[in-house]
Amino acid sequence: MIAALATGHCVLCEGELEGVERTFRGGWPGASGQVFSCSRCGSAQVMPRPAAEEVADIYSEDYFQAYLAGPGVKGGGEEASPALRERLARLEALQGKGRIVDVGCAMGHFVAYAQSQGWDAIGVEPSAWAAEEGRRRHGVTIHATTLDRAPIEAGSCDAIHANHVLEHVVDPVALLTSAARLLRSGGRLVVEVPQELRRPLFDRVLGGLHPALYPARAPDPTHVEFFSAAGLRAAAGRAGLEVERVETQRHERNTTSRLPAGSALKELLYRTEEWTGTAPDLVLWARR
Ligand SMILES: [Zn+2]
Repeated sequence: MIAALATGHCVLCEGELEGVERTFRGGWPGASGQVFSCSRCGSAQVMPRPAAEEVADIYSEDYFQAYLAGPGVKGGGEEASPALRERLARLEALQGKGRIVDVGCAMGHFVAYAQSQGWDAIGVEPSAWAAEEGRRRHGVTIHATTLDRAPIEAGSCDAIHANHVLEHVVDPVALLTSAARLLRSGGRLVVEVPQELRRPLFDRVLGGLHPALYPARAPDPTHVEFFSAAGLRAAAGRAGLEVERVETQRHERNTTSRLPAGSALKELLYRTEEWTGTAPDLVLWARR
């Protein structure tokens, strides 16, 4: 019966979709969709695909208020996280400063930070509420629209950044194609998405020792894609970008421990996660 449900192709790599992903407890709440996995790239996605307008309706003021009140989307609630600051410094070391566009910038914390570092930074954010709030808070330029409709000249950008955005988008390859069109030749795209299909190594080990403290987390019900590294690579390739690397990263670390060797063990686990590609988030670096 499950095979009969599996229709369609992967939105990332165009591979065949197969059975329902049983580790998921639902899928996207606004649709009657189920989550299918791709036989080629191992990503999973909600099928049938919700309409872009239905997805857009989720991102109300309430959504962004919750984001500010909670731990925030990876990257910090009120300001750009240390990991994003490091990322910008790395980008600058590779290609110097220039024009950077942060796609799905929410209230523009990263845009404001990049501007403070001497970049010509602008944001694009489809939520009119978040875009206006960002302009008011930070005095930065945020276009309240999608990337394909933003008034940005083709080939004019040195870098495009999207932090925890692609997993919310109905057609990720279309978004990446828009990014490729706006980048100059040699310009870079940096994209981070959650790696929800793999439980992070740290959580697996610590969860084995203290199940109550490190429970397995359910995937976010607002996501319409659940990425594998291969799926992320394939999507960027189909958008005409040259993939440089996909790495994994963890934003928040806690190495405190009551045990004598506990802190050292935690630090080792965090490092091993990054070496083995099992940290909680995937980061793609690609060039036009
Ligand atoms: Zn695929």
